[in-house]
Amino acid sequence: MSQRITILPETLTNKIAAGEVVERPASVIKELIENSLDAGATDIAVEITVGGRRLIRVADNGRGMSREDALLSLERHATSKIRIDSDLDNILTLGFRGEALPSIASVSRFSLATRETDASEGTEIIVEGGRVREVRACGMAPGTVISVEQIFYNLPARLKFMKSAETETGHVADVIARMAVSRPEVAFLCTSDEREILRLQRSDLRRRLAQVVGRESSQHLYSVTGEDDYTSITGYVSGPQLVRSGTQTIYTYINGRFIRDKVVQHAVMQAYRGVIDRGRYPVVALFIELPPGEVDVNVHPTKHEVRFRRQSSVHDAIQSAVEAVLRSSPWLSAPSPLVSNAKSGTSGAYRERIAAAAQASLLHPSPSHHQSLTSEQRDSTPKPPEEYPVSPKYNGQVNEPAPSFQTGLSTALAAGYFSSLSIIGQFHSEYILCQSDSELVVIDQHAASERVAYQLLKQQFSSGGIESQRLLFPETVELTFSETAVATSFSQDLAGTGFEFEPFGGTTIMVSAVPRLVVTQNPIALLRDVLADLERFGTSGAFSDALDGLFSRIACHSVIRGVHPLEFRQIKELLYQMDQTDFAASCPHGRPVSHVITLTELQKIFKRT
Ligand code: ADP
Ligand code: MG
Repeated sequence: MSQRITILPETLTNKIAAGEVVERPASVIKELIENSLDAGATDIAVEITVGGRRLIRVADNGRGMSREDALLSLERHATSKIRIDSDLDNILTLGFRGEALPSIASVSRFSLATRETDASEGTEIIVEGGRVREVRACGMAPGTVISVEQIFYNLPARLKFMKSAETETGHVADVIARMAVSRPEVAFLCTSDEREILRLQRSDLRRRLAQVVGRESSQHLYSVTGEDDYTSITGYVSGPQLVRSGTQTIYTYINGRFIRDKVVQHAVMQAYRGVIDRGRYPVVALFIELPPGEVDVNVHPTKHEVRFRRQSSVHDAIQSAVEAVLRSSPWLSAPSPLVSNAKSGTSGAYRERIAAAAQASLLHPSPSHHQSLTSEQRDSTPKPPEEYPVSPKYNGQVNEPAPSFQTGLSTALAAGYFSSLSIIGQFHSEYILCQSDSELVVIDQHAASERVAYQLLKQQFSSGGIESQRLLFPETVELTFSETAVATSFSQDLAGTGFEFEPFGGTTIMVSAVPRLVVTQNPIALLRDVLADLERFGTSGAFSDALDGLFSRIACHSVIRGVHPLEFRQIKELLYQMDQTDFAASCPHGRPVSHVITLTELQKIFKRT
């Protein structure tokens, strides 16, 4: 019998481990910076040439290592950060696997120079392809300098996967930015081909974020704080003016460690539903603190993924902390950036009145569109002065404000920002013009009513189902095969959104009820759109995940598009409803709802300053 199995030599096992930890120059830098931070450094300098292909050097002013420790640090599974089994449940350092240095050293020409603060000299170790070539004493400042030259020189397959120097440099800068955001008290410097690409002085989170995302962008960040029994959440989130097309600017940290976690990301995006458009991502820096035993970071060698003991409670804590800030639309009134503006939501009873008011609104037409007020309401509503309603012939013309004119309902309940505005009139039968002190406020009436309808639908759905209207004559609708499949699998769920239909042979269905809000529009076209949405979403998904999209779809169909003259009372009503609406600043499609022009801006235009 022959022996086929052998234990691999350590140089080879290190190379294998490197396959997981060392993907590209940026991952080497991540590991080295983690070590520097764990060593208590307050100054970290990174140098790369040719995108890190030729040289990566990380120098720190941390506590350094003795000669013995320096030699040991290159051994596999050698670490100063954990000692016994139970330490794994209580990890407070960034590293703990004892893998990075030997892995990196096995796939490069590596040198480590280190000096403890109170030592008279340092130690320099030269390693090549995982083998120690030389150990000598050296003069140096306290701290550690690690140089990695010709990465992957002995792994040609990996070398081939390296991208251009520019791309690799970009990844390096991203990694440094992520870590820098988590440790504003540490100074970072990065040079690429001797050009300085990042210089971050020691500061606080607010300033560090401004340095990383740009001063202009940081104007649109609002502070978040949240806490429950297990989780504490702090950080900053952007409003709808600051969005990106990718997730790179979603910085999330668990106990100070940057992570890319599906649960966390989902919670953040969930909070932004209806605030920003699909396919758009906010700028976010969130620090989630949990007892170390509540989170397992030992899931993947790169430690970017984690596992939570109480996944859903972490998810909800994040979502509600972010929502608490967004709900108050701080971007509407924020006098100064980066301030917390969270306030509590409206009460249930209040919401019911809002729903009733929204339903009465002419912006969400009922069958008897222009006569939708009850006679009682009509009587109690003063007739608008002659200049209102603003008809199309008033295009472009702005009327004097009429602050004394109020409707009964609005006077009784008005409290919020929009209700407090005095109405100037309507422009082009599409925009509402208002003023407040020295500000001219322009409101997109279509986006605003869509936003209000969206909130109303959400509210109806959560309190038992979206109001449905039976059709006098049920309508048959021909569908495609895939639409039929979607309609069949979601027919129960769709009943909750106001649509009722049943199979009518082959690919035809008979629609007997539609959401009340859209009854005067084209509900069948809406149903087709909804089915198409669900089809894209996939029949395997949970219907609840598609709901927000459906609400915004229905809301969009419910309002009158384009030019539409409004009566003063209707404007007043809309403003009132906007105040009762969470996230009033953007429509469900992420378009802004209102825009403010200050007196100073006007004065500038007319050269009065
Ligand atoms: P880990 O960080 O998981 O412990 P590493 O291979 O990254 O494993 O590092 C091994 C050990 O080397 C660390 O535990 C630490 O004691 C020491 N070390 C590494 N880098 C530094 C540094 N920059 N300053 C001081 N000590 C360091
Ligand atoms: Mg490490």
